[in-house]
Amino acid sequence: MLVFAEHNAERLALAEAINGRLSQSIDSYVIVSATDSSGIIVAVSQAFCDICGYCSDELIGQSHSLLRHPDTPDELFVNLWQTIQSGKHWSGELKNQTKDGGFFWGQTGIDPVLDWDGATIGYIAVRHDITSQKAMERLSITDPMTGAFNRRYFDLILPKELARAQREKQWLSFLMVDADNFKKYNDTYGHHAGDGVIKAIVDVLHAGFRRPSDFVFRLGGEEFAVLFPVVGEMDAFILADKARQAMFDQNIEHSGNPPYHRLTLSMGVITLDPEQRHDVDDVYKYSDIALYNAKENGRNRVEQHGDAEVEIDLF
Ligand code: GH3
Ligand code: MG
Ligand code: MG
Repeated sequence: MLVFAEHNAERLALAEAINGRLSQSIDSYVIVSATDSSGIIVAVSQAFCDICGYCSDELIGQSHSLLRHPDTPDELFVNLWQTIQSGKHWSGELKNQTKDGGFFWGQTGIDPVLDWDGATIGYIAVRHDITSQKAMERLSITDPMTGAFNRRYFDLILPKELARAQREKQWLSFLMVDADNFKKYNDTYGHHAGDGVIKAIVDVLHAGFRRPSDFVFRLGGEEFAVLFPVVGEMDAFILADKARQAMFDQNIEHSGNPPYHRLTLSMGVITLDPEQRHDVDDVYKYSDIALYNAKENGRNRVEQHGDAEVEIDLF
């Protein structure tokens, strides 16, 4: 309802006319959905239907989770439901799935709808379409050759993820990956073929670490990193070793990489106990030492920080 400061007859007529048009404008231009208290959709605006590709008949009566995108971590929904069920406003960026399997990003605000006694009887969500903004953001943090996250994002996200894991008491692993004898690969097969292999490595890492909470980075050249939550050290080693084996199994010819004569990866992994404080530089340093050990111990292998180490002089 619009409120006008001056109450002369002309203004009142205008206010009435505008209020009459308001619901029509909201329907056309504002992305709104409303659910009952269990998340079943009870109303949607035309703008909501336009962006997600469903008509209102297909949405009403369905659970709002129909639009949930698989990329969204469970924790986000846990936090969202805890917030709105306790009667509070929730706001954040939500990725939603469209009818045709695509997606859109909404800057989303969700408020509980209360009955006369103050009990929550439903929720109303208003979204602002930020899909193109998110696409630009994504470009700025992506390595264009491989689609992995770039070094810039790595520098940004590593301290944040360390802090988050500690706060949420979650074990977190950090894996450094380097292609074996890659200089010789370029020398033998050419730089262009080398670039193709770098893409193949990222595909293998993405296939092995594909949960929404996993991050795959290209740190530069033929060096990569993966940040991923685990249940413990053994879990980290098994996941890393599976990726190493997956690369080995691709059997990409690499004559300059004896004794394997195929493309292989060396990896160093460190797993961080949430009960301890971790310094960003230490995480990087110790996983790099583990990677160095993997190289020293014959390449095509995963070494964990804390396992028996080759003596090295750090400085
Ligand atoms: P090591 O097993 O010890 O890792 O030996 P290496 O030859 O792989 O040594 P290093 O990791 O230091 O070599 C990096 C080489 O990777 C140097 C360069 O020829 C190659 N390289 C770096 N960036 C690129 C790139 O973008 N494309 C291609 N094709 N090659 C790259
Ligand atoms: Mg290398
Ligand atoms: Mg290297």
